Amino acid sequence: MSDNPPIEYAFPELRKWEKGAAPYIHVRESGKPGPTVMVTALTHGNEVSGAIVVDTLLERGLAPRTGTLILSFGNIDAYHSFDPRTPFKSRMVDEDFNRVWGRLDQPATTSEMKRALVLRPFVERADLLLDLHSMHDDGVPLMLSGPLDKGAELAKQVGTPVDIIRDAGHAAGMRMRDYGGFGDPKSPKNSLLIETGQHWRASSVVVAKDVAARFLAASGIVEPGDLPADWKQKSPPQQRVVEVTHAIATKTGNFTAARKFEGQEVIAKAGTVLGHDDGEPVTTPYDNCVLVMPSSTRPLRAGVTIVRLGRLV
Ligand SMILES: [Zn+2]
Repeated sequence: MSDNPPIEYAFPELRKWEKGAAPYIHVRESGKPGPTVMVTALTHGNEVSGAIVVDTLLERGLAPRTGTLILSFGNIDAYHSFDPRTPFKSRMVDEDFNRVWGRLDQPATTSEMKRALVLRPFVERADLLLDLHSMHDDGVPLMLSGPLDKGAELAKQVGTPVDIIRDAGHAAGMRMRDYGGFGDPKSPKNSLLIETGQHWRASSVVVAKDVAARFLAASGIVEPGDLPADWKQKSPPQQRVVEVTHAIATKTGNFTAARKFEGQEVIAKAGTVLGHDDGEPVTTPYDNCVLVMPSSTRPLRAGVTIVRLGRLV
């Protein structure tokens, strides 16, 4: 018996997209002035909802009316390593592709660093980037807008999901969404990272399509009518912005949650016990503390983030 979550949709065959401007990277120019807009999937190889979006856009031959559209698959080798018996393993080959972006000047010793060097010129060219992710555990979708005002503003323009998370990323290394001009408050470049829900839920594909359609329409390089009519979903009544204040990592990997958390719960009282890390209680540091992407009870490596804590702003 496997404890792995069910896979609710078919994974796309992607080898047909190998030949492009670079392997698994496709550039479509309108020939007219306008921004360069990039939509990328499989930054983590088992986060497949975004790959459905990029595969479908390539299949439909979506062409920009102005500017340039870049469609890409990031950690394609990890995707191709997928084994349904160990589905979480195909997140990466050697290391996390979304932590290497601050050290690309160093020798490329891992599969992910080599792939990042292939992707880098396209990421550098992009004025707007949407990086499509999903979550290990079931949870409500959220947009990681980065630490800057411009990211939160773009997330509001996209208009979904409800939760916009302002966060500075990970001590373990820079994410693609924070690379170069995306992380510079003075640059007009902007990026968003969507977490669509659990990796293999059909609902995550719905979220990935909705966000991609809205993002592309907001960029102005396509008309809303150029996108599949059933992608855009109803807008939530109101979005909210959560500023991440703490990232709680497990010291030794021995963390047990006090109960099952769905994600984005607001915990009213400071001092509420969220769980125990190696026997030590982990508590909320202030009233009305939002739990951002809490892990469920799964085997964890030492140093892995188990929950981020945030304030509503
Ligand atoms: Zn991811």
